[in-house]
Formats: sequence, C-alpha cells, structure tokens
Amino acid sequence: MKLSTSELSKIEFIDFHTHRKNFLPETLSVLSIELADLQNLALDNLDHKFFSVGLHPWRLPSTMDNILQDCKTLGKALQLPKVIAIGEIGLDALRGPDMKIQKAYFAENIKLARKLNKTLIIHCVRSYPELISIRKQFAPDLNMLVHGFNSKVKILEQLLEHDFYVSFGSISLKRDDICEYIRQNPECFNRICLETDDSGINIEDIYKRAAKVFEFDIQELKQIMKTNFISLFRDSDSV
Ligand SMILES: [Zn+2]
Repeated sequence: MKLSTSELSKIEFIDFHTHRKNFLPETLSVLSIELADLQNLALDNLDHKFFSVGLHPWRLPSTMDNILQDCKTLGKALQLPKVIAIGEIGLDALRGPDMKIQKAYFAENIKLARKLNKTLIIHCVRSYPELISIRKQFAPDLNMLVHGFNSKVKILEQLLEHDFYVSFGSISLKRDDICEYIRQNPECFNRICLETDDSGINIEDIYKRAAKVFEFDIQELKQIMKTNFISLFRDSDSV
C-alpha cells in the first residue's frame, strides 16, 4: 500500500468520483478521465493523487468493430501511475448505443479489472437488474462502486446486498427516502461513499450536507470515508 497512514491523516475529504480539475488541497479526489481525452491531459501535470480511466457508455461507438483495440488501449492507460480504477463505465438504458454493445464493453472491462486489479466505477441508469445479474454471474469478487446513485431505495438495498459500494452526490443527498434509509440502517455506512461528480458543489459542502441528512458527526463521517476508500481500492497497487 503506497498511501501512508501519515498521508491519509492529512486528508480531510475524499471525493470518490469527480470531473473537477480543481480541488481543495486537503482533498483526495479520484478524477475521472475519458479514455479519448487522455492524450490531451498529461496526468503528471495534474496534481490529483488518483485517477480513473474509462469508456463512458454515452461515448461508446455504435458498432463493436473496435472493441478489442479500444480495450487494449484502455488496458495500457490503466497501467499508468496513479490510475486506480476503471471508470466511468457502465450501462445506460436512456443514452448511448444499443445495450448489446454496452454489455459487451462492460464484459471486457470486467476482464481488465480482474487482470489488472482495478476497482470499477459504474454509471448505471435504468439497468440495475442487468448490472446485478452481471455481477452475480461474472464478477462477485471485484470491487465495484455505483456512482451518483439516484434510484429507488429497493435498488439501493439490492446493491448493498450484492456488495456494491454506492456513492452519493448532491442529488442523492436531497432524496428524503434515501437519507431515511441510511439513518435507519447505519450498518450500511461501510459501503457508502461521497462524490462531487460534475456538480459545481465542492466536496466539503457534500460532507456537511451528508452529516446533516444522515445525522452523523462530521469527524466520524470523515473517518468512515477513509476506511471505505482503503477497502474499495485495496487491490490497487497505488493505494
Ligand atoms: Zn461522472
């Protein structure tokens, strides 16, 4: 594990999934980068400690002609220093190419995650039964974070049951039913993460809001996020 305890003790906030290139110095953020944008962004010039690289379902091609080449390029990107996760990747029933193509890419991502010991950061819209069944069948052992959760409480329950980590941002924290569920089931906190995604809100405010709606002490929340970070990315060589 490369992230030392003293390094971690200096961290105040962890942003598990963000597209923001600016962040507070005491924040540890996982910056999500689209594979196609990687060449224009020299990772070494970015101060972020960690990155995820992936092929977002919205930006997948409409044919499978290049799937092997795309995944080979992704495989190389995942071996760059500080890249700890594949993401965001996933399934979106409302946007992106045919679900058959999204599922084929997802399957290839699972193979890469297993081969390279990476966590998967997942974008999922109206495809939770498919996601859960893929996990059960092909990847019950891999670490998966469903980011920006904004679905039904029943789905949240199923995700937690199947050992997914689930990340909340500003929209999830406005959902009374989700917040109520978390308050009633504090044991699920070991699977909950916080994120800014592409919102304009900073992670400190997300923490404050989470502490308020979950009725949780903010210091305790910070500690839990650190523990969850370590366990979610435990297989990565860089953490
Ligand atoms: Zn995102």
